[in-house]
Amino acid sequence: MLTSIEKSIFSVAVLITLAIAGWITRRIIMTIARGRGKVDFRVVPKRLVGVLARVLAFQPVFRFRFWPSLFHAFVGWAFIYYLLVNLGDTLEGFFPNFEFPRVGLVGGIYRLIADFLSIAALFGMLALILRRFVVQPDNLAARPDIMLSPAARAGIRRDSAIVAGFILIHVGARFAGQSVEIAHSGAKDPWQPFASSASTLWLGMDAPILGILVHVFFWLALGTIMLFVPYFLYSKHLHLLFAPLNFLLKPERRSIGELDRLDFDDESIEQFGATRIEDLEWKLIMDAYACIMCYRCQEVCPAYNTGKVLSPAAMEINKRYFLNAEGRRLAQGDDSSQTLTEFAIPTEAVWACTACGACVDICPVGNEPMRDILEIRRSLVLMENEFPEQLQTAFRGMERSLNPWNISPAERLKWAEGLDVRTIDQNPDPEILWWVGCAPATDVRAQKTARAFAQILSAAGVNYAVLGTHEQCTGDSARRAGNEFLFNEMASANVELLNEVAPKRIVTTCPHCLHTIGKEYPAFGGSYQVIHHSQLINELLQQGKIRLKRALDSSITFHDPCYLGRQNEILLEPRQILSNFNSSFIEMPRHGRKSFCCGAGGGQMWKEEEDGVERVNASRFREAQATGAKTLAVGCPFCMIMLNDARKDSNSEMEVQDIAEIVLQSLDRPE
Ligand code: SF4
Ligand code: SF4
Repeated sequence: MLTSIEKSIFSVAVLITLAIAGWITRRIIMTIARGRGKVDFRVVPKRLVGVLARVLAFQPVFRFRFWPSLFHAFVGWAFIYYLLVNLGDTLEGFFPNFEFPRVGLVGGIYRLIADFLSIAALFGMLALILRRFVVQPDNLAARPDIMLSPAARAGIRRDSAIVAGFILIHVGARFAGQSVEIAHSGAKDPWQPFASSASTLWLGMDAPILGILVHVFFWLALGTIMLFVPYFLYSKHLHLLFAPLNFLLKPERRSIGELDRLDFDDESIEQFGATRIEDLEWKLIMDAYACIMCYRCQEVCPAYNTGKVLSPAAMEINKRYFLNAEGRRLAQGDDSSQTLTEFAIPTEAVWACTACGACVDICPVGNEPMRDILEIRRSLVLMENEFPEQLQTAFRGMERSLNPWNISPAERLKWAEGLDVRTIDQNPDPEILWWVGCAPATDVRAQKTARAFAQILSAAGVNYAVLGTHEQCTGDSARRAGNEFLFNEMASANVELLNEVAPKRIVTTCPHCLHTIGKEYPAFGGSYQVIHHSQLINELLQQGKIRLKRALDSSITFHDPCYLGRQNEILLEPRQILSNFNSSFIEMPRHGRKSFCCGAGGGQMWKEEEDGVERVNASRFREAQATGAKTLAVGCPFCMIMLNDARKDSNSEMEVQDIAEIVLQSLDRPE
């Protein structure tokens, strides 16, 4: 029970803390509101329960780095429970007869959980301190060649030290206070086994001293909160607030890679893409406040892992430190003093991104660094006309020949010569429309996949048609390379054509086409059921429309294409097909949603890779080789080209084959 003077000091401290916190929070909200777009609160009711469950279970954290995640969860669970504990302790301190559940079963369970979580938090915190300050693993920092503000390089460790100190004092003092109260009462509390054990520390002390200690620990436990809160709003620990908000409020997206449509008809829009931080969508500004600076996104980034100067984590961290410094200015409505490429991410890094989405997928707080990068690309291309020269060839190909390979549209059906492939003009009402895609239609290696798939469809008697010379590029490469204007034209033309054809289903061998048509064309007025050829082949196998006659006498590993597995969650069907063979199937260490990019996405196919220590495709191929498998199965023409190039460069005997080619080899066909 607090004295009157203590109550007065405590009340004044609470009011001052709330006033400061309110003032800073208001500024943060106004800063976020400078971003493009508006929050759609209608999404909240349907997400609330799911987000609460995920946050309480710390589910997103556990997807990567199990042990640190567990220690972090110990601290987090205690932090959440301590919201209740702190309220209870404050009320008990103020009101003499108030007992926050102290008695009966409820009171016992309440104290038991508090006792366990206190120890778990202290243990977790000590383990995390050991990891950050003693072990210091490489994956908790960015390389020296990465653009990271000096304030951040020093600030992250300082932040961690301050917060660790706060948690140790706050939780430790509360736990110690409980143990003193037990010693004071003279009887052990069976509901607080740890605090009861610790109470022996105070044995033999006089009651007045124990009484003083209760007050000391009360102030250490609760008084530190008042000191901490204003600092907390500037530190990375603000994620406690913004991580749940990020999950709760993020705009609806059909997939993690779906980009927003830009309206080129609206003449009032002066800025396309993001040059400055305030040009970003509000959600991407909020990402900076949600970031826990854990470097998970960096650890999975193919560009960073092959030595490029791109770190999605460093970009988010730079944004956060910039907002700490310029928040007031932004909240007042002024322009920020530097462009994103000046303080957040260098231009070279912007062009090193493969748009693989791994950073978005792995981020435990729902951040989307890839989106910032693609927004910056849009601004560089559309506002500054500044992009790698080699991309110009692909853009020109898409503009003039409707494909980045710059092959004449008249030659688009050449790959099918000698096969029974009918066009939509010849078969206007097919059960399924095959969107062939530019790579299978024009690239010599990818054409083999198209030919194999055509033969499988014929063997299964599928009623299908292709668009033939009517088909043009979906525009995926243009969009990911920042040329939204070109994408806009291609998407609009394709949607017009597809709406005329009105396909029942669309199948494609290219995950980029699958993603663009299925997830991005709806914003252009085209909604279609689009499936990957591995899904259709699997369906045909299950329906008995095709059968396999012989087992492959080789071992297989499968490379999940980013736009198939991670971005469209098609993970099962390729594996189901490959499980039909008696060959041994070996997973690579990074597979499924955690697959590693082949290096072609994000427009990289059309340009040289930025300087680094290794090419992305070489790194991925090495991982495939290390499995010892004889065949590397793929499900994407871009992956096929990249991994086949890596195979040639390394003189490997491993075969790179599309799933369709593997199935065709074993197809049981009448002679
Ligand atoms: S999208 Fe892929 S390449 Fe780009 S920053 Fe994220 S992880 Fe790195
Ligand atoms: S963006 Fe996400 S994954 Fe990357 S450092 Fe921040 S919290 Fe970690």
